[in-house]
Amino acid sequence: MIEIKAVSKKYDGTNALALEEMSLNLNSGDFIFLVGPSGAGKSTLIRLMFREQLPTKGNIYFDKKDIASYSQRELLEHRRKIGMVFQDYKLLKQKTVFENVAFALEVLGRPPKEINKKVNDALEKVGLSHKADKFPRELSGGQQQRVGIARAIVKDPVLILADEPTGNLDRDNALQLMQLFEKINEEGTTVVIATHAWDLVDKMQKRVVALSSGKLTRDKQGGYSHE
Ligand code: ADP
Ligand code: ADP
Repeated sequence: MIEIKAVSKKYDGTNALALEEMSLNLNSGDFIFLVGPSGAGKSTLIRLMFREQLPTKGNIYFDKKDIASYSQRELLEHRRKIGMVFQDYKLLKQKTVFENVAFALEVLGRPPKEINKKVNDALEKVGLSHKADKFPRELSGGQQQRVGIARAIVKDPVLILADEPTGNLDRDNALQLMQLFEKINEEGTTVVIATHAWDLVDKMQKRVVALSSGKLTRDKQGGYSHE
């Protein structure tokens, strides 16, 4: 699905490379944990895959097409196919849960009837149908992140990119969230999660891609601690 080929990234005004000659293939249906210390390049890799930024060197192919060569239309379509989940949820405070999830489809210009059905389906999938009319501040952190996931899946993405999605949650909520990602993955969506939650990475037994100083240091199925 995504082929990352010898990608390097240098941010303006810095000397070090955030990513260095990174190569990686993501296959459709994969569930991948991206691990590594702070500053290793995990967020950079996610931003490059979403095409929020372009590589300094190297290429990223999505379904065989170089994403740097997209037209404006192709770029919008690319982003429609990818659901993003953030550590700080990024919910709109003045909108209800329903409206937050609906907004992801409104910006795509979908008809109200379709929006209504898809939002209800997405909220049901994350177990929050009963909170549809609440505001984010009325929800716990774990619930807010489930809204974040509903907003990501409502677009029927082929890929979900999550950057530290459990960073603000306690262990029980974090585990529940990981299990929700697992369920979404089992239904066919490819999932990539950058995380520091080592114990959960070990528990989930998925493909683990480790970065250190912008380089890939490990790519293995299973937990992290079992070599
Ligand atoms: P991680 O997500 O693994 O913590 P990042 O991708 O955020 O790693 O960072 C990789 C490196 O790139 C770090 O040295 C970081 O300071 C640098 N970096 C990240 N974002 C920027 C930016 N917007 N401008 C300059 N340097 C950045
Ligand atoms: P993370 O580790 O989750 O990437 P950070 O706290 O490193 O989060 O980065 C938060 C924000 O600061 C990001 O938008 C990133 O691009 C930016 N950033 C990180 N490092 C630098 C840097 N050295 N110079 C400028 N911006 C940076």
